[in-house]
Amino acid sequence: MSQPRKLYEGKAKILYSTDDPEILLSEFKDDATAFNAAKRGQIARKGEINCTISTRLFQQLETLGVPTHWIETPQPTQMRVKRVQIIPLEVVVRNLAAGSLCRQTGLSLGTPITPPLVEFFYKNDELGDPLLTDDRLRLLNLATPEEIEQLREMALTINAHLQTVLTRCQITLVDFKLEFGKLADGTLVLADEISPDTCRLWDCLEDDPQRRVLDKDRFRQDLGHVEDAYEQVLTRILEQV
Ligand code: UDP
Repeated sequence: MSQPRKLYEGKAKILYSTDDPEILLSEFKDDATAFNAAKRGQIARKGEINCTISTRLFQQLETLGVPTHWIETPQPTQMRVKRVQIIPLEVVVRNLAAGSLCRQTGLSLGTPITPPLVEFFYKNDELGDPLLTDDRLRLLNLATPEEIEQLREMALTINAHLQTVLTRCQITLVDFKLEFGKLADGTLVLADEISPDTCRLWDCLEDDPQRRVLDKDRFRQDLGHVEDAYEQVLTRILEQV
């Protein structure tokens, strides 16, 4: 067995090589960043919580016919994943208005969005991950028009499934971000993670606009009790899923 080699260290995960060139090991970290890494910190047990939640959700999505990069979870903070070529797009789905949508359109926080909005952002830290128009998507040619349509459909299927699961957990799925990759044969698969780092999740049992927040906004906005919120999401998902 050759030693795993660190291939890439991102803000929340480290990718290692394995003996199999088609398989990578993804290590989930407790490190937290926000505002394009201008704010940095740690959230205790985040790596394990996000890896566990993502594992459960990826497993379920696979059974529903949504291919993912997940293979197995050999350690609580480690996932073995298929090597993919990451498409440099952040695919955001929104069911209620929040975050950049409110800032850029003036819509009030929590405005219902039906049908859900699917948005494509250019995954590029130097450019600040800008929102892309359809024409800019075509111009940049980061994926073919057919692939973009497939990404949109997969994102909406994933949204419907997550809404079903989270409703059972008494959690409102406000919005979330997905990343996709391509296998050697061209198949598009869901990659990265689905966790309180990448979703906005509101506690249905709370009306208070600060107390209801169960996701990374607690860290972004210094709302306190960040760890409690992540633990709460994990507990509810493990009970329901
Ligand atoms: N998001 C993410 N990573 C990013 C940007 C956004 O996971 O680099 C998630 C974020 O947690 C939220 C959704 O994508 O669930 C929509 O984020 P938005 O565009 O509103 O941006 P923000 O308000 O976070 O700047």
